[in-house]
Amino acid sequence: MNRIELNSMTLDELKNFMIKIDEKSYRGEQVFTYFNRNKNLDINSLNQLSKDLKKKILEISYINRLEIFRRFDSKIDNTKKYLFILQDKNIIESVFMEYKHGNTACISTQVGCRMGCKFCASTKEGLIRNLTPAEMVNQIYMMEKDTGKDISNVVLMGSGEPLDNYDNVLKFINIIHDEKGHNMSLRNITLSTSGIVPKIYELAKENLPITLSISLHSPFDDHRSNIMPIAKRYSIAELMKACKYYGESTKRRLTFEYTLIENINDGENELKELSRLLKDINAHVNLIPLNPIKEYPEERPNKEHVERFQYNLLKRNIPVTIRREMGSDISASCGQLRRSITDKE
Ligand code: SAH
Repeated sequence: MNRIELNSMTLDELKNFMIKIDEKSYRGEQVFTYFNRNKNLDINSLNQLSKDLKKKILEISYINRLEIFRRFDSKIDNTKKYLFILQDKNIIESVFMEYKHGNTACISTQVGCRMGCKFCASTKEGLIRNLTPAEMVNQIYMMEKDTGKDISNVVLMGSGEPLDNYDNVLKFINIIHDEKGHNMSLRNITLSTSGIVPKIYELAKENLPITLSISLHSPFDDHRSNIMPIAKRYSIAELMKACKYYGESTKRRLTFEYTLIENINDGENELKELSRLLKDINAHVNLIPLNPIKEYPEERPNKEHVERFQYNLLKRNIPVTIRREMGSDISASCGQLRRSITDKE
């Protein structure tokens, strides 16, 4: 029999689990709170449960733990990058950042990724496996415990495509939001996707007030397909329709991420088409100057050019910000740290 991953369960699932093993459902709540509020995974020291009950639980289930493999501290700000080692020895990356609006965790949702975006380091070996809900919440709890600071915001922008691991990501959101656990506001959760259209509709129907962030990177289908294989499956027109549906049903403003690549997607034509595309949707553009990786030969535009691109969008009434670079001294682009380690070891 496959053993159950105890700390990947939502509160309801843990209550049902207890009922199934002939225990009272409130035992499920005790365990849930212990994991997700006390951030303690050592169930043997949970005094509310009898020795026999702990034994009974651990006979059919196990608890998933991460370990810090390495930590990189920025000397410029308080950004910390973590490499965590999973129980099967895979390695994932997460980032802790301090912003005025609260401490933010950038977490991974998969080991590797199968989306194949040309400029992204996380996808170069394809998808290795999905992360479980416990492996996602544990990235947050481990960083909170290690820094001694609370995390109020989370962005699903580490390695992986969250909508390609839909069920586990939804469980993660349920667990981290639960008031009996971490109690994170849904409004403080951002899910970034390369644009899996049917999953955007599915997510809209969940009606969660999380922020959806779309990786657009080009307003032209042919150019977008050159850098993002997913664009061959879903056209920009289909993607925009799904985004409008999402915005209307959740009443949330969307974000469009736009990685600026020199001479690839930073010209006048793109500006014009991008502003036409976004003019009647409640959205905000986040410009990300490319972090060059060795597998992709292109460069990032210089600062003046990035600012000009921003200015020209603003002039066309499109709200737009440039992503602030956090921990630029330790910040090889996302996914690169993990790769440099796995290449070596
Ligand atoms: N799979 C999700 C999360 C990816 S990471 C998605 O596609 O949205 C978050 C953002 O960083 C995405 O917009 C992604 O396209 C962008 N990104 C990835 N590699 C990058 C790089 N080398 N330079 C700049 N942006 C990059």
